[in-house]
Amino acid sequence: MIHGWLPTRSALAKREYPGTTGERCPHCKVKETTWHALGQCKHPASCQARDKSRAALDICIEEGAPDDNAKDWLRWIYWTRHGTWCREGAPHPPGGAGPERGERDADAVLAANVSDLGGQQIWAGVIPSGLHGRLVVKGGMSEDKASKLIAKLSKLARMASREVWLARCKWINENGTNAETRNAWRTAVRRVAQNHFMAVGSLAAAKSMANPQFEAWRQKVVP
Ligand SMILES: [Zn+2]
Repeated sequence: MIHGWLPTRSALAKREYPGTTGERCPHCKVKETTWHALGQCKHPASCQARDKSRAALDICIEEGAPDDNAKDWLRWIYWTRHGTWCREGAPHPPGGAGPERGERDADAVLAANVSDLGGQQIWAGVIPSGLHGRLVVKGGMSEDKASKLIAKLSKLARMASREVWLARCKWINENGTNAETRNAWRTAVRRVAQNHFMAVGSLAAAKSMANPQFEAWRQKVVP
């Protein structure tokens, strides 16, 4: 399970407006990938949507986790900081509480799995392996209760991603950047196509050109 295809600016830039500016996040000025839009973008509205979703997760953890150590684990897995889901700066995973070597090993496996998955998959609803066992064996939950708690958290994570995407679409459409970029690109295509040194002859032919070739011509015609 991963986040599905989203019309981010870097995705649209491949077919709509090639070039260096079209694919960037208008707020952060970096390439807007799916993970940037959902987890990393620092636009206040996107951060606010993440913080709001976080509150629902915190309630679920507070009410559902069997003990304080399990709560620490769940907060660590669904890491949020300064309104983003970037894991840089996340503290070390909870652990060391179990005197048993087997428990410490199980904690290490869970921590490694969370790192392997990364924020993008966690917030797409992927459940780290070892979490169920942690809740049952160490937390004393029944198999059924642990499964239900994990399913609820996974659902809340997916809903959080959805909310962040909706917030992103709202602010990006409000500032009109997509439309402006698209119009600027269409104008550029026309001017490139009309230019005598380029022999493609039609708008359709210009649009079907490979990006680097088009970009080189575009830069000559439209500064
Ligand atoms: Zn951004």
